[in-house]
Amino acid sequence: MIKQSKIDTSILIVDDEPYIRNSIHEFIGMAGYKPFKSSSAEEALKILKTNTIHVVITDVRLPGINGLELTDIIKKDYDTDIIIITGYIGDYSYEEAINKGASDFVSKPIRLEELLLRLKRVLKEQRITKERVLMLKKLQELAITDGLTKLYNSRYFYKQLDSETDRSKRYNHPFTLLFMDIDHFKHYNDTYGHLEGDKVLARFGKTIKSCLRKMDTAYRYGGEEFVVILPETSRDEVMAAAKRIKKAIENEKFSPQSGKPISITISIGVTEYCRGERISTLVQRADKAMYLSKQKGRNQISTLFSGESHNQ
Ligand code: GH3
Ligand code: MG
Ligand code: MG
Repeated sequence: MIKQSKIDTSILIVDDEPYIRNSIHEFIGMAGYKPFKSSSAEEALKILKTNTIHVVITDVRLPGINGLELTDIIKKDYDTDIIIITGYIGDYSYEEAINKGASDFVSKPIRLEELLLRLKRVLKEQRITKERVLMLKKLQELAITDGLTKLYNSRYFYKQLDSETDRSKRYNHPFTLLFMDIDHFKHYNDTYGHLEGDKVLARFGKTIKSCLRKMDTAYRYGGEEFVVILPETSRDEVMAAAKRIKKAIENEKFSPQSGKPISITISIGVTEYCRGERISTLVQRADKAMYLSKQKGRNQISTLFSGESHNQ
């Protein structure tokens, strides 16, 4: 839940009549909020540029830019709610104010208690909306993340491969894949237990991330299998990344039993996307490259590019 104290909640009052502007300003301040005031829309926009304002309370009739025009501008550029003050009933309609994006309106003569109630309701809705947006973002992250390793999951891998192949086709830029599989991991689990195995996987996720550039993305493909997409990376460059990861994993020390540091190794397969090929062909080739490393005795990096035989 989002917690925001009243004193951190900034309210901007825009009215050209000093008496109304000052009395609302004082009242809002007494209610515990952080009040700002301005006598014109132009001045209000300057304040909005340099301060985070949560709600703007603005008169409709203002010299220069009027309150409805101000609402239009604010709604385009800021994440701020607006309460409109109308002069006379019928001056501007409720619909007009709401259609412009205002959250509520009050009419003059202003009853300060009523304005405060409306302000509180607007702030409450603002908080609920923010919470909803945050929760949605969290859910979206959860849906693409592997819980144990905190890397992306395989569903997201295929989604990203889709956009990466599209990009590669459009701009004719290379991208490469690393397939990795932990060596003899079943033995590790059998010897030290599944929980210790999980710790290895979790640390593995962190280590891989620390070896990558910002544009590279790492995924848990399956149980103890991982994959990295390296955009804009040619055959020559990808080997440096593979070596970096292999070394970093070898250097990690695990202590499933006290006084007995253990290292693990991985087998890596490297391949490059060949323009126009199917995603399944690419993934199978990366998997085959990894399998070559297993065949050669594990703890190795093998490459397999399009057109090459995998019986090498
Ligand atoms: P290889 O060198 O040929 O890859 O041998 P391996 O033992 O690593 O391969 P194998 O495919 O025979 O076994 C994979 C093991 O990975 C089996 C399983 O116990 C372990 N594993 C898979 N997922 C998890 C997991 O989420 N947690 C733990 N702790 N172990 C896992
Ligand atoms: Mg495996
Ligand atoms: Mg394995």
